Amino acid sequence: MAELEDVSKSYGDVTALRGVTLGIRHGELAGIVGPSGSGKSTMLHLIGTLDRPSSGTVRVAGHDVRALSDRRLSALRAQVIGFVFQQFHLAAGVSALDNVADGLLYAGPPLRERRERAAEALARVGLGHRLGHRPHELSGGERQRVAIARAVVGDPLLLLADEPTGNLDSVSGAGVMELLRELNAAGTAVVVITHDRELAAGLPRRVEMLDGRVVEGARL
Ligand code: ADP
Repeated sequence: MAELEDVSKSYGDVTALRGVTLGIRHGELAGIVGPSGSGKSTMLHLIGTLDRPSSGTVRVAGHDVRALSDRRLSALRAQVIGFVFQQFHLAAGVSALDNVADGLLYAGPPLRERRERAAEALARVGLGHRLGHRPHELSGGERQRVAIARAVVGDPLLLLADEPTGNLDSVSGAGVMELLRELNAAGTAVVVITHDRELAAGLPRRVEMLDGRVVEGARL
C-alpha cells in the first residue's frame, strides 16, 4: 500500500527523518508514536505524498513518488488517500454536508452526486442528523467526525490521521478512535499518529519513532 525505503528528509539544517524503512499493508491499522519532534508528522506527510523525500524511495499504491509530476501526484493522492488533522480544518460557515461534499471536488462528480455521497458519509460517521449544521454549531467530537467523513467520502484505500484526538476530551476521543476502527474493519488501512500511550497500546501495530528513526515496529 505504502512503502518507505531508506528515506531521509531534511529541512535546511534539521534532519527530520534518517534512513526510515517502513511498509503499510492494505487494510492494516497502525499507530505512530514517539515524542514531539521525533519525525512522526514528517513521516505521515511523506506517506501521504504531501511532501517528497530528500533521499530514499517512497512508493504509494505501487507508484514511485519521485517519478510522478505534481499533477499526477495530486491525482494519486485524491484517489488513494484521506487525511484527518488535529485541528479538523473544516471550512467555517459551510454546512457539514458541503464540507464533506468538497472532499469529492477533485474527483469531479456533479454537485448533486457529491452531496448525496456526502450525506451517506455523514450517516456513516453517525452525523446523519447534522447535515445542515456549520462547524461552530458542532462539538469538537462532531467536527472531527465531519472531517473523517470528508476524508473517506471518496473511499480511499488509506486514511492518515495526525493526532485526531489531540483536541478532544477523552470521551469524544474514544468515539473518534472507535470510528477509525470501524472504518478499518470495513477495509480502509488506517495510520494514526498519537501521543496517547494508552490509545496506542490498543492498536494492532505500533511504530515507535525517536530522533527521526523508527526504533520499533519497522517492517517492509
Ligand atoms: P513530530 O510530528 O514527531 O512532532 P515532526 O515530523 O513534526 O515531528 O518534526 C521533526 C523535526 O523536523 C522537528 O525538529 C521539526 O522542527 C522539524 N520540521 C518538521 N517540519 C518542518 C518544516 N516544514 N520546516 C522546518 N523544520 C521542520
